[in-house]
Amino acid sequence: MSDNLFDLLAAGIRDPEAVAIETPAGEPIRYADLIARSGRMANALAGLGVQPGDRVAVQVEKSVQAIILYLATLRAGAVFLPLNTGYTPAEIGYFLGDAEPRVFVCDPARQEALREPTEAADARMVTLDAEGRGSLTDAAEAAPETFATVARDSDDLAALLYTSGTTGRSKGAMLTHGNLASNALVLREAWRFTARDVLIHALPIFHTHGLFVATNVVLFSGASMIFLPKFDVDRIFEAMARATVLMGVPTFYVRLLQDDMLNAETTANMRLFVSGSAPLLAETHREWQARTGHAILERYGMTETNMNASNPYDGERIAGTVGLPLPGTEIVVTDPETGAELPQGEIGMIEVRGPNVFKGYWRMPEKTAAELRDNGFFITGDLGKFDARGYLHIVGRGKDLIITGGYNVYPKEIETEIDALPGVVESAVIGLPHRDFGEGVTAVVVPTGSPALTEAEVLAPLEGRLAKFKQPKRVLFVDELPRNTMGKVQKNLLRDRFAGLYD
Ligand code: AMP
Repeated sequence: MSDNLFDLLAAGIRDPEAVAIETPAGEPIRYADLIARSGRMANALAGLGVQPGDRVAVQVEKSVQAIILYLATLRAGAVFLPLNTGYTPAEIGYFLGDAEPRVFVCDPARQEALREPTEAADARMVTLDAEGRGSLTDAAEAAPETFATVARDSDDLAALLYTSGTTGRSKGAMLTHGNLASNALVLREAWRFTARDVLIHALPIFHTHGLFVATNVVLFSGASMIFLPKFDVDRIFEAMARATVLMGVPTFYVRLLQDDMLNAETTANMRLFVSGSAPLLAETHREWQARTGHAILERYGMTETNMNASNPYDGERIAGTVGLPLPGTEIVVTDPETGAELPQGEIGMIEVRGPNVFKGYWRMPEKTAAELRDNGFFITGDLGKFDARGYLHIVGRGKDLIITGGYNVYPKEIETEIDALPGVVESAVIGLPHRDFGEGVTAVVVPTGSPALTEAEVLAPLEGRLAKFKQPKRVLFVDELPRNTMGKVQKNLLRDRFAGLYD
C-alpha cells in the first residue's frame, strides 16, 4: 500500500456502513459513500486534466461535497489548496498566480468576478455551491465511481495552505501525506478517539483546524461528525445532546458561556471540549469548568506544523497553557538572537521538530531557509516558555513583542493582569511608535459597559503588580477587538488604527 493519506484512511475503515458525516439537512453520508463519491470526483478531476502533483485550488462554502473534493484530490495524487471564503478577487489572483493550479473550484455566484484571475493563471474554472451543486458535481455524477488511488510517498505533497500572514505576502505551506497522516494518528491516540465518537464540526474547512485536525482525526477513527455550515449557538446545543466532542476556537467557548443553556446537564453527553488556533483566556477555562464540570483541553498548532502540543487527556489540564509536546514532536525554547536553547522557565522563541513539520514554503526557498533550520527545527515565530512541570506557555507572537526603552515587554503578561480587573471583558496590549521609548506600551480594553470604566481605574491596580516599564502609558477603550475568522485578535489592525497616539 502507498503512503497516500487516502489509502491509509481507507485501509482503516472497519465498518463501511457506519455514518461518517451528518448534516442538518440531507442524508447521512456513510464511509462507503465517501469512497464511492470521492472516486467519481477523482475521475472528474482527471477528466479536467488534473495530474499527480497538480494543485487544485478551492474557494467554496463549507459542504459535504467540499470534503469529498478534498478526498478526491488526495486520490488523484494532486495537491489540495483551500482558500478562505473571505478572500477578494484581487487576493485570489495572487494565490492562483503563485500556486498555478490546474483547476480552480469556486462558488457559482462568484464565477464572473473570478474569471479574469483564473484565466490569467491559466487554470480551468469549475463550480461548487453551498448545497454541493455546480459544474464539478455534474461532472462527478456522470463519472464512474471506480478510481485507482494514485500511489504517493509520505514525502509527496498533499496540500498547500497559505498562512493567514498579517504582514508581507502570504506564504504557501507545503504539507505532505506523511505530515497529515502522522498528526491525525497522534491526535487520535492523544484525545482517545474511537468509532463511537461524534464530533460537532462547526469550523471552516479552509484552515488546518477544521480541515485536518477535525476531519482527519474523525475519519481516521471511523467516528462521525455533525457537520454544521457555521458556528451557531442553538445548533451546537442541539448537537451536544448526542455528540461527544467539540473542537472550537476560543470565541466558540466565550459565546456558549453567554447562553443560560450551558450547564452540566446540557453537556452531559460530551466527553471532550478542545480549544485552539488562538489563546483561550484562563478565565474562560475556569468559567467553563465551573458551569459544566468539563475542563477544556487547550492545544497548540499552526498551519506549518499541524499540532505540536496538547494538554493531557488524563492528566491535569492547566488553564493558560498549551500543555505538553505531543508524542513524536520535539519543542525547544531558544534565544531569538543566537538560536541557543534556553533553560526551563526562560521566555524565548518556540521551535518545533517532528514528522508533523511541513516541507517548506512553496517557491520561497529563502523564506524556507530562514525559518526551517538544517537540523529540522521550524522557528515558529511564537514566544513562550516551559514551566517546571513541562507545560508550554505561549506569551505571544514574536512580532507582537514590545520593546520600550530597551526593555522587552510580553503583551500576554499585561493582558492577563488587565483581564482580571472588574469591568473588563478582555484586552489587547500593543506597542505604538513613541519618540522617547521607541514603542509605548498601550492597552486596548473592551469594558463590560456598566458602570463605565476609566483609564485611571485600569492603570491604578497595575501599579503594584507590574514593573514601571511594563505599565501601559495609555488605555484605550473599544467595543470589541478585531478578530479574523479563526478568532485571532488582529493586533496589526489596532497598531494601524492608533499609530499616531504618541505623536
Ligand atoms: P494558523 O497557522 O492560522 O493556525 O496560526 C497559528 C498561530 O496561532 C500560532 O503560531 C499561534 O500564534 C496561534 N495559536 C494557535 N493555537 C494557540 C493556542 N492554543 N494558544 C495561543 N496561540 C495559539
